[in-house]
Amino acid sequence: MTNLETPIEYIAGIGPKYAEKLLYLGIESVRDLIYYFPSRYDDLSNIEKIENLKVDVISTVEGKIIDAKSVRTYRKRMSITEILIEDDSGPVRAVWFNQPYLENSLTKGKKIRLSGKLVQDSKGTYFSNPTYELASRVPTNMGRIVPVYPETRGITSRWIRWKMQEILKSVAAQIEDVVPTAILKRQKLTVLQEALRQVHFPDSFKKLEEARKSIAFSEMFLIQLNAVRARKNWKESKAIVVKFNEKLIKDFVGTLSFKLTTAQRKSTFQILRDLEKKYPMNRLLEGDVGSGKTVVSAIAALEAMMAGYQTAIMAPTEVLAKQHFETFGKVLKGFSQKVGLLIGSEIRTIWKKNTRKNFLGKIRRSEIKILIGTHALIQKDVQFKNLALVIIDEQHRFGVEQRAKLQKQASELKDGLKKSVPHLLTMTATPIPRTLALAFFGNLDISLLDEMPKGRKKIVTEVVTNVNRNNVYEFMRSEIRKGRQTFFIFPLIEESEKIAGKAATEEHKRLSERIFPDLKIGLLHGRMKPKEKEEVMSRFKNKAYDILVSTSVIEVGVDVPNATIMVIEGADRFGLAQLHQFRGRVGRSDHQSYCFLFTDSTSETTKKRLKALIESEDGFKLAEKDLEIRGPGEFIGKRQSGIADGAMKYLGDIKMIQQARLEAQSVFALDPQLEKFPVLKEALEKMDQEAHLE
Ligand code: ADP
Ligand code: MG
Repeated sequence: MTNLETPIEYIAGIGPKYAEKLLYLGIESVRDLIYYFPSRYDDLSNIEKIENLKVDVISTVEGKIIDAKSVRTYRKRMSITEILIEDDSGPVRAVWFNQPYLENSLTKGKKIRLSGKLVQDSKGTYFSNPTYELASRVPTNMGRIVPVYPETRGITSRWIRWKMQEILKSVAAQIEDVVPTAILKRQKLTVLQEALRQVHFPDSFKKLEEARKSIAFSEMFLIQLNAVRARKNWKESKAIVVKFNEKLIKDFVGTLSFKLTTAQRKSTFQILRDLEKKYPMNRLLEGDVGSGKTVVSAIAALEAMMAGYQTAIMAPTEVLAKQHFETFGKVLKGFSQKVGLLIGSEIRTIWKKNTRKNFLGKIRRSEIKILIGTHALIQKDVQFKNLALVIIDEQHRFGVEQRAKLQKQASELKDGLKKSVPHLLTMTATPIPRTLALAFFGNLDISLLDEMPKGRKKIVTEVVTNVNRNNVYEFMRSEIRKGRQTFFIFPLIEESEKIAGKAATEEHKRLSERIFPDLKIGLLHGRMKPKEKEEVMSRFKNKAYDILVSTSVIEVGVDVPNATIMVIEGADRFGLAQLHQFRGRVGRSDHQSYCFLFTDSTSETTKKRLKALIESEDGFKLAEKDLEIRGPGEFIGKRQSGIADGAMKYLGDIKMIQQARLEAQSVFALDPQLEKFPVLKEALEKMDQEAHLE
């Protein structure tokens, strides 16, 4: 018997040929097909009386074929099939070109529905190439709200509708709600069977909305239940307790050349409180570019170090890891400096000369207390002695799969003796809107740096069209004459660093030969070796270049305070969050900074987005705006979310997410083993397995 897990090729009328095509749509099983949602709907629910038809309007009629004929014009190699169809108000003609096989199905006496545009020309008034179906069949392609699916070669919406209807009918009874019945009732939701039916074949747009919302709720409920459970499991493991050391913190803060912001103090306090607990911290430190996350993390690492424990700090790139290595070395100067750097093949400590073996020995003996690096830190031969804390910087840059793996591996980096799980602090400069944070990071505690250090000047942001390009060049020149530096960013075209690298290389050539032959221009792209990249960055930092031409690899955390101009080519190709990140590369000193957004796009969405960027410097506000303009699907990436497309838009619905969380908490509190909810239990297990596969 067919069930939800049946491979799609075993379905009658599908077979291996269609299965191969369906694979392009990500459909492998019956379940996949059922969760393949329409991208839009055509309202063909009104069946018109033939006498009321209007020319140039798409309409649907139903009637009996009273005449049918097919003509072949041999000279033009064309076939014309023509019928006359009649309802109780009158007849109308319908004509198909080059579909000779219709002759066999559209025979006199048959009752059909047809839908299409009524045209009028020298040959009279008729439906041109309409779609049709037998009137005896359940309305599928017309006479109802019709689902339109994303198609692929050889798979039409019409075909999907037909299969969907058959399959829904045969497996509907097997579709079970994961959300317990009591909750469905309390939240006034449609049962899943019916909701899925309505999503594909809605009886009305109102029912469609209710159905989508119900499906979104049930997915959110699962996500929340998973988060609630993960949180509880996490709290069941043991961590190293790092006692709050007030004097140390005071001494350290006293050595800083600036005063911590209130937000920094609050976040630091939250983190230090977590470190005192017997179970591991799992906290996300969210703060805009330049909000000062590094020093907050340094305080945590310092405390662990002075208590005799180790900290591992992971950055997404070698450039950034090295920068952290330098920063940490600098700020921890007055304290014992047991900081090491491990990136790829390279190792470095403040003690000169080190073999890898030697270096690893120092980690194993806890002589290196703060180890900074890329994900090279997660290697079998890197063994800690007493790892109390893991910090992951710019975690959003690690990529989705990598991130999940990293967190898991990080939590498994065990201190050899006590088998404890390290405290985990992740940091991100992507401000996540509150709804999404609640939706996807429900298992984390969150600290916000929602305040910038004092004295930062507003960055002047302007959209520049091609015509005004030269003005910007002139302005750059005048700033550079004053001793400032400029970034020049190129978009990733077609997601390929190879092509972007080429574009950047060409532009580098153009700028150095034609526009600024008198200036020194550096080039940075993702295809360069890490060592080369690092060299270019440090040369830029040391003012060996006036201009740095780069692809988006520059985005990650680099700190060059003397750079005051950020030029972004093809600004429309970047998301708001990313543009905001780029802009954050400048404005890091007392000098006035500028961000120029080059674009020739005239699209409304682009205009809206760039306008938002000009008007606000608040990353959180921009994130909300980005969410609003692009929708959650674009914002978090559809594939990353695991949320069915049709349900996506409810991710902005904070009330629903909160309700889902409350309900999940209540279920879990009542029955943590989910003994009474076998379907739910199974769904969670499946989620686990999928997470492991990643
Ligand atoms: P991000 O949050 O983007 O990682 P950083 O930690 O790199 O930001 O900090 C950006 C710059 O701001 C650094 O040069 C840092 O020394 C400086 N900074 C951090 N906190 C403060 C503060 N409270 N007042 C002034 N400058 C600060
Ligand atoms: Mg940073």
